[in-house]
Amino acid sequence: MSTLEISGLRAEVDGKEILRGIDLTVRSGEVHAVMGPNGAGKSTLSAVVMGRPGYTVTGGSVTLDGVDMLALSTWERAVAGLHLIMQYPTEVPGVALSDVLGEALHYRGRDANGLRDLLRDEADRIGFDHKFLDRPLNVDLSGGEKKRNETLQLAVLRPRIAILDELDSGLDIDALRDCSRRVEELSNDATQPLGVLAITHYSRLLNELRPDHVHILAKGQIVTSGGPELAAVLESDGYAAFVEEEEPAETASSALDDLFRM
Ligand code: ADP
Ligand code: MG
Repeated sequence: MSTLEISGLRAEVDGKEILRGIDLTVRSGEVHAVMGPNGAGKSTLSAVVMGRPGYTVTGGSVTLDGVDMLALSTWERAVAGLHLIMQYPTEVPGVALSDVLGEALHYRGRDANGLRDLLRDEADRIGFDHKFLDRPLNVDLSGGEKKRNETLQLAVLRPRIAILDELDSGLDIDALRDCSRRVEELSNDATQPLGVLAITHYSRLLNELRPDHVHILAKGQIVTSGGPELAAVLESDGYAAFVEEEEPAETASSALDDLFRM
């Protein structure tokens, strides 16, 4: 069993503080949904946990089973058991999916001999066409095919904790169902249940991927946490009740004032 512990996490981009003290604990087999309006810092959270360059951690910690993830490079975090499905998966011309997964298994000390069969098997489970298995990674794939592809990688690599950044963006309803159902199955796996941090703007992702906990992220902080019922409240009422009013449009008027002062 594994535990991802995010504690008091603060981070900034370009000198601007985006994450303002995030506390979250995700254990094997648990599904946590982090929901929030655009610009809340959801993608920043996933990027900082995974170690994407360009973000400066200014406080707090991220550990996986007690190991400091912030001290590791991104690939070391991945080998340790963290996996990120990005909001916009990267296209990698010239590198086939089967090659990527073969290398990834090798670095995890796992046997890649049965990879071909495993790939076909997993592809069938989520309706991913076999012809893509030897094509360059994500190149010329539709939004839905890219997310099926990413879900397939997750199922083959079997990380301990997966972060899904808007798995539902760019997906049609069939692909959304296939992908979220597979992730839900992985979280219920008898031997190594996946811990899931599912970041999303819309509650429709959570119809198949049933969260145990729902957190609302606004302006870089978790403002409310609850059970699955919270997602239903958001669906009917939106974020307004959880997010404090925007400050009056001071910047706009002071910009105007400046203009007149010139
Ligand atoms: P969300 O995923 O919740 O929509 P993001 O984490 O993408 O929000 O963005 C939060 C804030 O951080 C936004 O104001 C965004 O402009 C800013 N931000 C995020 N990443 C970067 C970056 N690499 N460079 C500059 N600003 C960024
Ligand atoms: Mg985002």
